[in-house]
Amino acid sequence: AKSLGKARYHVFDPVMYQEAIQLLQLENDLRKAVERQEFLVYYQPIISLSTGKIISLEALVRWQHPTRDLVFPIEFIPASEEIGLINEINIWVLQEACETISSWSEKKLIDKSLSISVNLSVRLFYQTNLIAHINRIINQTKISSCNLKIEITESVIMENHRDIKNVLSHFQKLNIPLIMDDFGTGYSSLSYLHSFPFNALKIDKSFVRRMQDNQENMGLVPAMISIAHSMGMTAIAEGVETPEQLAQLRCLNCDYAQGYLFSQPLPKELMIDLLLTSPQW
Ligand code: C2E
Ligand code: CA
Ligand code: CA
Ligand code: CA
Repeated sequence: AKSLGKARYHVFDPVMYQEAIQLLQLENDLRKAVERQEFLVYYQPIISLSTGKIISLEALVRWQHPTRDLVFPIEFIPASEEIGLINEINIWVLQEACETISSWSEKKLIDKSLSISVNLSVRLFYQTNLIAHINRIINQTKISSCNLKIEITESVIMENHRDIKNVLSHFQKLNIPLIMDDFGTGYSSLSYLHSFPFNALKIDKSFVRRMQDNQENMGLVPAMISIAHSMGMTAIAEGVETPEQLAQLRCLNCDYAQGYLFSQPLPKELMIDLLLTSPQW
């Protein structure tokens, strides 16, 4: 009985209690955020290294919390996945991003070839009507399916081989290009990678950052670019922050780059201003 008393005493951990309360608060706020549509899409340009021009935008979700500063996805995407709100949020991002591109294109503000890249959580792959949503959004916004790109993290393909492959092949049939995000962080084998219909590999920013510390051989980035090309895919480098990194990536024949050097993710009003200046790097 004595030892039980002692064990009980340890059950109440004020730190854990505090964390549990915060998590409940977050869940509560997230449910309201979905109802009240408190999310925003920010856009970050992706640059073609051959022309130096913007060829695509990546949609990155933000949460305009009523009483806090802008909340970043790291703080609410995992929780949304846990409590089953990710599908609703992510489909909204997809719709909003496609509508934005479509309205700019209708007003003839942008080149018709500008594409939009949207991140999809693996949870959406288990939702039976994902493809129906995508078809509806493409039809409603009249964007060309090849201008909508889907980004999926490398870890996703390890999760459930057959199911994931099945959904990916639907995208392929719809002519929606697929980008493997965070390439290099997921430990997938190359033969595995080869059996998925990806069009591009996005080299994780941790490898791009290490190019500088490793002037002599530039770390793993050259190998990753070679892998992409030898498998008939293009290579995108993310997290490009310095002119040196840009020059190195150009030397290595990397196809595309993205990062603070070009622009931070911006709300759509600022992104269209940037696009209208036709920047070139
Ligand atoms: P990600 O897809 O790997 O996105 C790249 C992240 O790097 C973004 O963070 C972006 O703001 C940041 N970034 C861009 N350029 C630079 C740079 O030069 N240096 C550094 N250090 N960072 C840079 P963000 O916007 O906070 O998004 C974090 C992650 O949240 C994303 O990682 C993505 O996995 C997820 N996410 C964002 N939006 C969505 C969404 O709509 N749906 C889903 N499922 N996930 C999303
Ligand atoms: Ca991404
Ligand atoms: Ca990434
Ligand atoms: Ca990431």
